[in-house]
Amino acid sequence: MELLQGSGAWGVPRDVAPAGPSGAARPKGPILTAEEARPTRPPAVIDGAAAVAHVPGPIVRLPQADLARLTALADETSSCTRCALHAGRTQTVFARGSGASGLVFVGEGPGEEEDRQGLPFVGPAGQLLDRMVQAMQLSRDDVYVCNIVKCRPPKNRKPDLEEMSRCMPFLDEQLALLQPRVIVALGATAVQGLLGTSEGITRLRGQWKLYRGKVPVMPTFHPAYLLRTPAAKREVWKDLQEVSRQLQSHRENPPK
Ligand code: URA
Repeated sequence: MELLQGSGAWGVPRDVAPAGPSGAARPKGPILTAEEARPTRPPAVIDGAAAVAHVPGPIVRLPQADLARLTALADETSSCTRCALHAGRTQTVFARGSGASGLVFVGEGPGEEEDRQGLPFVGPAGQLLDRMVQAMQLSRDDVYVCNIVKCRPPKNRKPDLEEMSRCMPFLDEQLALLQPRVIVALGATAVQGLLGTSEGITRLRGQWKLYRGKVPVMPTFHPAYLLRTPAAKREVWKDLQEVSRQLQSHRENPPK
């Protein structure tokens, strides 16, 4: 699979016809309603989206060799037969976005639309995710979006442990190359894959964890859950505001 590198969108396959400038359809409609977005935090951060006043410059710039390796890894993934999921896929779904913001979102696995387009989070849940990214004052193209498994499970069931563990080396290498400053784990499967815990997402969400002992992970609800349970958007917004603060501190204190 060929990846767009010149545009800075190196997670985006070139061979998929984009609906927007860099891929799937742009988000439509309001970001979050005022009620949904109202945090329970102090007033100074109520307008969380405005707390990061403008779309900031890149935190992460990848060396050319790492970009090339990401491209090669996407190619390797596209012919993977490590688990049974390969039999049912239209194509693998590697990633989208550059990760220049330092932020990576990890979901569960491709659904029908993702399998069709070869891009993660391009269905209704993805459009909600895009609106949240927009509310964080980040560019959709600057966040890296990927999944625990790269092939669509039949009937969108959860991937099983065997499928997850066969696919994790791809994600582990993606993350090692990308060097994100923060990872957001979307839902229980992402948390389980990244952190190796089967503790429920309701209990874990909102609490910082560490991936491989060093990269901060914020577990939060999956956008598909939010589509069914809009009242939970408030919690997710709080979690994402924490993430914005963490990214801001990386901008203010870049590693020497
Ligand atoms: N849900 C996911 O977890 N990942 C996708 O790519 C799409 C929906």
